[in-house]
Amino acid sequence: MVAKLFEALFGCRHSHYSFPITVRSRSRRNSAAALTGTYVACLDCGKELPYDWQDMKVITAAETAHRRVAALAAKHAA
Ligand SMILES: [Zn+2]
Repeated sequence: MVAKLFEALFGCRHSHYSFPITVRSRSRRNSAAALTGTYVACLDCGKELPYDWQDMKVITAAETAHRRVAALAAKHAA
């Protein structure tokens, strides 16, 4: 009941995930897997979210931005 109300007010919390899916072919890589090569799908709304196997957690939007900046900084430093 509370979860349904929360979902109606704020949208899906993405609390139920599929098993992480690793994309092997770069040509078929989707946007969620672009960062780590692995993604999970929300079983409630179907949204695909990037997943980090090393930390074993879903990567949030804030972490995505941080990782892109870090990758860009490393690229420019080299
Ligand atoms: Zn969701």
